[in-house]
Amino acid sequence: MIRNVLISGAGVAGLALAYWLDKAGFETTIVEVNPAFRRGGQAIDIRGVALDVVKAMGLLDKADALRTRNRGMSMLDKNGEETERTEERTFSAGRLDSDDIELFRDDLCELLMGALSERVTMVYGDSITALAEQGDQVEVSFASGNRRVFDLVVGADGVYSRTRKLWFNDEASVVNNLGVVLALFTTPNFIDLQHWQLIHRSETAGYVVYPSLDQKELRVSVGFATEGVGVPRGDVAAQKAMVASKCEGLGGDVPAFVQAMQCTDQFYYNELAQIRMPAWSKGRVVLVGDAAHCASPFSGQGTSLALVGALVLARELARHPDNLDAAFAAYEERMRPYVLMNQDMVDLTRRGHIPDDVLTRSKFGIDLGDLLQEVA
Ligand SMILES: Cc1cc2nc3c(=O)[nH]c(=O)nc-3n(C[C@H](O)[C@H](O)[C@H](O)COP(=O)(O)OP(=O)(O)OC[C@H]3O[C@@H](n4cnc5c(N)ncnc54)[C@H](O)[C@@H]3O)c2cc1C
Repeated sequence: MIRNVLISGAGVAGLALAYWLDKAGFETTIVEVNPAFRRGGQAIDIRGVALDVVKAMGLLDKADALRTRNRGMSMLDKNGEETERTEERTFSAGRLDSDDIELFRDDLCELLMGALSERVTMVYGDSITALAEQGDQVEVSFASGNRRVFDLVVGADGVYSRTRKLWFNDEASVVNNLGVVLALFTTPNFIDLQHWQLIHRSETAGYVVYPSLDQKELRVSVGFATEGVGVPRGDVAAQKAMVASKCEGLGGDVPAFVQAMQCTDQFYYNELAQIRMPAWSKGRVVLVGDAAHCASPFSGQGTSLALVGALVLARELARHPDNLDAAFAAYEERMRPYVLMNQDMVDLTRRGHIPDDVLTRSKFGIDLGDLLQEVA
């Protein structure tokens, strides 16, 4: 019988899962490696059926109020001169007349965090270092030196999940590196950019810049091909140096962005990868969100997949609290076709071929009717 659950990671997947597990009566603890609530990140999208999940959490109106309000975008050349502009779409959100909700990742996480009851235990600044199954439980060792026992451990710790590395042993075959880095950082809005996106794309590097919701900060993302040269994960100084070198030769405001990047502590460097695993669970450990099936930011669907996956996993655990195999099988059976459709869409897009209806199918390609009725 599952009673107490440990979730590793307080991102979208971890927080949404904690919400649904707590609602279903499970004792829920989240351990987050960051020492405090993690700010930063660019805009992410809630699309299709994920909007129904957010509605079922009672958060749709609040999410809508946090919607980004960019009115269009300018394409720039390498000197920062405008070559094209549009008010019909933005780079990050796509068409501005769609029902999707684009909001900042940290705003969504804050919203999810605020929806948690005080029964959910949050532990910041710690992480799992070892897992050992003991009969019907898992003994978890933490970096802090603490040890605790849980009935179930969930890895919601992102694309480079520590839980996955510790427990599933086949990291090399499941991480499909896409050969692209996306670095995201926050700077003061020293160019007074208001409700507008600036975008530049070239062979060597591309960037997108837009203001935060209150227009006081800029959220900058810089993307480039890795060309086989990696920098050690966690080495922020080396990562910043790599971004700076890739931006050399770009004019306009780029040198000033790079200078501001050196001073910010809101910096996120991600070597884009897709995670394709044959199974998302083993014994009493299961994965959710990017840890299980990252489709990559190219899909624009990572947050929606995380929100949907959290609901599906929590409801299947609630349906089968004394039969983990049944819960995990039902979780995978429902989620896997939806995940694959979104992951395959990235491959098709990168090869320049998208069947006409694939975008619509990937937005709506899962039926949550019975689960949403259960939680209504
Ligand atoms: C800081 C940040 C900024 C991002 N910005 C963007 C963006 O601009 N655009 C975009 O498309 N996607 C972005 N993403 C990824 C996006 O949030 C996810 O693709 C999507 O929301 C699915 O979320 P997730 O909860 O599965 O993973 P994530 O959002 O990656 O969350 C994972 C969480 O686990 C925590 N964690 C990591 N390792 C450990 C560990 N060992 N122990 C405990 N906790 C751990 C992380 O700090 C994080 O809070 C960002 C992710 C992060 C962490």
